[in-house]
Amino acid sequence: MSHSKLAEIFNKDEKRVDWHDKALWFVRHKRDLSVLQVKGWEELRNLGRSIKAHTLSNLDNYLIQFEENAIKNGIEVHWAANADEHNSIVHKIIKDNQAKKVVKSKSMLTEECHLNPFLEANGIEVVDTDLGERIVQLAKETPSHIVLPAIHKDRHEVDELFQEHLGTTPCDGDPQYLTGEARKHLREKFIAADVAITGVNFAIAETGGFVVCTNEGNADMGAHLAPVHIACMGVEKIIPKQEHLGVFLRLLARSATGQPITTYSSHFKKPRKETKMHIVIVDNGRSEQLSRPDFRASLHCIRCGACINTCPIYRRSGGHSYHATIPGPIGSILSPGMDLTQYSDLPFASTLCGSCSDVCPVKIDIHAQLYKWRQIITKETKQPFIKKTSMEAMGKLFAKPSHFEKVGKLARWSLRNLPKSLINSKPNVWGKGRDLPKGPEQSFDEWFKARNKKDNFQK
Ligand code: SF4
Repeated sequence: MSHSKLAEIFNKDEKRVDWHDKALWFVRHKRDLSVLQVKGWEELRNLGRSIKAHTLSNLDNYLIQFEENAIKNGIEVHWAANADEHNSIVHKIIKDNQAKKVVKSKSMLTEECHLNPFLEANGIEVVDTDLGERIVQLAKETPSHIVLPAIHKDRHEVDELFQEHLGTTPCDGDPQYLTGEARKHLREKFIAADVAITGVNFAIAETGGFVVCTNEGNADMGAHLAPVHIACMGVEKIIPKQEHLGVFLRLLARSATGQPITTYSSHFKKPRKETKMHIVIVDNGRSEQLSRPDFRASLHCIRCGACINTCPIYRRSGGHSYHATIPGPIGSILSPGMDLTQYSDLPFASTLCGSCSDVCPVKIDIHAQLYKWRQIITKETKQPFIKKTSMEAMGKLFAKPSHFEKVGKLARWSLRNLPKSLINSKPNVWGKGRDLPKGPEQSFDEWFKARNKKDNFQK
């Protein structure tokens, strides 16, 4: 289903739309307050963007440097060209260690590769340990947000879910009780796990180490208890030096949740005694995106979610309406790069207001890239008949001022005189949920000419 159809379904529950909108705006507001505390925030953003641009221009060198240093540290490094290779590598590591139970902290890359269903089909238990991710896993859903995976669910739904799956007692959605029960449930999973899988927020070429940011400490708990740690990262997660970390850690937490720092910024460099550490470096379409000059900057993304929180379309259509792993403005740039036909609707799910670009900590020109995708999609994919013909007609109309004037006159008259049922008829999708204004008597052009005539006369 297209974004607009899925958004229509989400919009049927008005109450949910309202609190979803408010909750995300609250996070956006927190981000603004937090950013105001930092002197030189714009300089920090510029620095973040420059480091990312430099890294992407030298990506091959930095990846090789990272691999060499990681191997020196005792980490086993694997390379995966696509999602299938990534899943097979992870599965092989698990099999080679005769493991059956896996705990996983939040990783959008493993979501992108559909790792959970793959491992489950191979008889392996995978438990997501981020609370939001565990909630959506129990509900057999996918995350609807990259930082707040269960933001589309209210506490009463979580209460019911926990009663069904964890055997908790009804608590009228008491968050403290529910969190306590989740903690107990996850502790058992952590203790029993044979393998811990984590994502990677930043991998440092200079040291061969990497950093994982969480607010719950679940990545640390998993990686410190299990004898095998597998970290999965996209190629774009690399940064050249340790000293660059400070720039990104300051940008990330403030942009994501308005916190000055993520609660746990855990640095991993080598396996502990008698344990193993693997890192899987994944391409899965990223090199191709890098080769597109108009879209390569999308690989600067540090997955803070700020563009998602601020997007008026996302806030009122929900993450699942994007039918892609990464929703919102940045997802709508990344997904068409993976499959232009399947995701051709997404760049149109935007007002192009530019708020996403304004808040992006690494200054990605998100709205400009969305507009560029629209131009490509219109040329390269089949457009709905009504949209295609009406746009062609509009093109012809705009090209001839005399035609534009006549049609404008007719449109203004129609808006004033025709019944609403005719104007908001089925082919006019803009009329859905919108009231068109009453057509004015004069166009701007007519008003302007009349005014000039009067002024000249008075002189
Ligand atoms: S595009 Fe920018 S604002 Fe959006 S998630 Fe990525 S870094 Fe954050």
